[in-house]
Amino acid sequence: MKYQRPKGTADILPGESEKWQYVESTVRQIFNRYRFAEIRTPMFESYEVFSRSSGETSDIVTKEMYDFEDKGHRHIALRPEGTAGVVRAFVENKLYGPEHNKPYKVYYMGPMFRYERPQSGRQRQFHQIGVEAFGSDSPVVDVEVMAMAMEILKSFNIKNMKLAINTLGDPETRKAYHQALVDFLKPHFDELSEDSKVRLEKNPLRVLDSKDPKDKEIVKDAPSILDYLTEAAQQHFTTVKALLDDLGIAYDVDTTMVRGLDYYNHTIFEVMTTAEAFGNKEITVIAGGRYDGLVQELGGPEMSGFGFGMGVERLILLLDEQVTKQLQDNLDVYVVGIGDKASPVTLKLVQSLRKQGFSVDRDYLDRKPKAQFKAADRNHAAVVLTVGDDEIAQSVAQVKDMATGVQKSLPFAEITTNFKKIYDDFRQSEGE
Ligand code: ATP
Ligand code: MG
Repeated sequence: MKYQRPKGTADILPGESEKWQYVESTVRQIFNRYRFAEIRTPMFESYEVFSRSSGETSDIVTKEMYDFEDKGHRHIALRPEGTAGVVRAFVENKLYGPEHNKPYKVYYMGPMFRYERPQSGRQRQFHQIGVEAFGSDSPVVDVEVMAMAMEILKSFNIKNMKLAINTLGDPETRKAYHQALVDFLKPHFDELSEDSKVRLEKNPLRVLDSKDPKDKEIVKDAPSILDYLTEAAQQHFTTVKALLDDLGIAYDVDTTMVRGLDYYNHTIFEVMTTAEAFGNKEITVIAGGRYDGLVQELGGPEMSGFGFGMGVERLILLLDEQVTKQLQDNLDVYVVGIGDKASPVTLKLVQSLRKQGFSVDRDYLDRKPKAQFKAADRNHAAVVLTVGDDEIAQSVAQVKDMATGVQKSLPFAEITTNFKKIYDDFRQSEGE
């Protein structure tokens, strides 16, 4: 084959794209109820927007960025994640100003780009749906956003969900913990992976996030950050847990969980599930947390944020058949035309029905009636209209309800003015 899509990308074809639309429209409704509004930022930004926000030692920056120099010699990168661009826009548009809501709550959805080794649920162009809430330090925001994350997955009937939470405390906490972690890891230096040796130098917390099996083994016995929390950090975490309890949301505290970005503090969380689609391995579908300092790092005032990102590919792999099957059956009417004179007549009928709000299709290849009826079947048409020479002479069509097999001869005049009534009558008799 001459042309192939780039490695790690996917064509989302009809049959599949319905699932995407379903996911997007469902989350939009949920975001609307939680008062998050949509923000759309560019798919590429200055490289520094990402290197600053993800941190120079993150996997994203060290290995996964799609960056290039444009014709004006600017260092540009395709966005690897959503938060950095949103924070850049938040600062640039002064959305922290007094005329705006606080917390300022936005959501985004769209493609992200990471140079990764493609595998099931891991692509180079993939999609995220995410949210950010800026400007409140309240643990209530943490809890509401986590509750929303759980609600989203529940609305898609995702099973075996597990909410894992942890705290990274405040800067003082992390400083103390940093030291304890270095003291613990130093004696294991030679056994660590090459990546983790570098991490230990630059950002030891990231060693906890290593995917290397041997690193993971070492890290198991690492000191827990919970033993280093300041009083304020402890207070925040205790409140978050209490509020989750109040809402009846179950969670596990996972003290080895750290997040990829440098700016997270206080609450971080992941929602995981195990599913056949992923060989019954545990995978993370939603991940996020609280971050301070990021708004400031990108030139804004001191202001905290709380957000998450959801991997859409992974979510779609988790959708069960029940949901996805329904999405494809949506042809209301198929119009079958028989004989030489039928085409202009069926064209008018088709157009009239579409204007009345129905999804309608017909034949465009001069196919025989049998082939047309087959096409109607293949597209799961709810109703089939048939027009031949006799019908044209009498200005009527045969209207057949495909579920019950009931057929009626009905005048064009009625079909083109009030098909809704005809359609509803059929549907009603189906229910009887
Ligand atoms: P992982 O540890 O799996 O690499 P991550 O920490 O890089 O995940 P985040 O940056 O937190 O992931 O992104 C949030 C979510 O986006 C992930 O939980 C996942 O569902 C999805 N995601 C991340 N990278 C990819 C990818 N390359 N392809 C598809 N989905 C992805
Ligand atoms: Mg990753």
